[in-house]
Amino acid sequence: MSAVLERRALHLQDNRSREAHLEANLELLAAAGRRNRVPVPVPRTARPAGSAAESEGILMATAVIETTEAIVENRAERRRAKWIEEHRRYIGGSEIYKLLNLAQYGTGCRTELAFQKLGVEPDFPDTDRDDLLLARGNILEPLVAMLYEQETGRKVRRPAMDADGMPKPKFHPEHPWAGVNTDRIILTGSGGIEETGDLEIKTRSEGPFLRVKRSGPFPGDILQPQWSLFVTGHKWGSLATLGVFGHLPLVHFDVRYDTELQEIFKREGGEFANVVWGKGHVPEPTLDKNDQRCKVCQFRMQCRGEQIDKAEVAMLREITKSKKELVQIDNHDLASTLAAIDMIKGEQKELEESLKNAQETAMQLIGDANAALVRGYGKVYKLESQAHYLDATRLKAEHEELYNEYYVSKKTGNHYLRQYPEKIA
Ligand code: SF4
Repeated sequence: MSAVLERRALHLQDNRSREAHLEANLELLAAAGRRNRVPVPVPRTARPAGSAAESEGILMATAVIETTEAIVENRAERRRAKWIEEHRRYIGGSEIYKLLNLAQYGTGCRTELAFQKLGVEPDFPDTDRDDLLLARGNILEPLVAMLYEQETGRKVRRPAMDADGMPKPKFHPEHPWAGVNTDRIILTGSGGIEETGDLEIKTRSEGPFLRVKRSGPFPGDILQPQWSLFVTGHKWGSLATLGVFGHLPLVHFDVRYDTELQEIFKREGGEFANVVWGKGHVPEPTLDKNDQRCKVCQFRMQCRGEQIDKAEVAMLREITKSKKELVQIDNHDLASTLAAIDMIKGEQKELEESLKNAQETAMQLIGDANAALVRGYGKVYKLESQAHYLDATRLKAEHEELYNEYYVSKKTGNHYLRQYPEKIA
């Protein structure tokens, strides 16, 4: 078994022992509940058959566990609400791409960031998707930190937590609007490290991870460790990205403090802070009104309502003009999904282009060889392409009857989408 697989196996063992630990904790909770006997009324109709004492005991234990779970859930909700409230008072590392209007996964706008910081209720509250991705990141973070330690030989530690067990942000000594919850601190004296550094952690599904491997980290991910360095004053950092698929591959990129970026952070962050927290204003949108981000933005009615209204009038005109009857659907999730399809298609085109370029480069590097054993990779063969097809044009021209006899045109029962994203005039 390779070293990587061994590590994953160790991790799985670790997970199994964690599950066992969790089960033991639940049993302890139930036992504590039985001891404390929290009286919770249980409807008579819900009581199972069996001896009265036995049923009473089972119901009491169930009610105690449910009560304990509800208390834990409420506490977690309260902690999260408090954290969100505090987070409104500063710009965090994961928001820098928004501050700089850089697009990442269909979002990335300074005006949107201002709406969020001012606590404005969105027109289209987001689904649970972001929360689920955040939860995935939180669950996998310790694993990524552990793999990073194993792969680099460096030691890391978790930064300070507050009394509620939530990460305690660190603030820039001169710019209180700049805060950061650095994922881990990289310690000196291990893995050849002579200077403390900041580690930021990301998890990505297969497509985005392969894109990171191919073209480097996403713009927002590059900015995140730089923002951390801006706030903590450390001179170097690292970005670790875990692929959430297959054998859980990990890549990391070391970065040094970039003075030019730090100046941009100071300037843009300072301006944003003056307008948003200083005056309580939302900055004027600077994105083009047809920008993909505006189509799925949670604040699009408040921000671009007037233009969107005009677009809706145009859409109604389309409905009356269209040969097919159009049904108007007002569903934010559907609009987001359709916009995501356009975005993925764009990435697919880019990916195909990169594949073509890489194949051409490899072809040149192979040179005249038709078969080779490449050290560090394996075997590669250069084969002549061959086309196999039926010449339908000729068949039709020379034997039209036969062509018509075998030509098939029928409905398959499957459907596909043809999309026309609206343009704001
Ligand atoms: S509608 Fe467009 S410009 Fe306005 S906040 Fe949203 S993304 Fe930004």
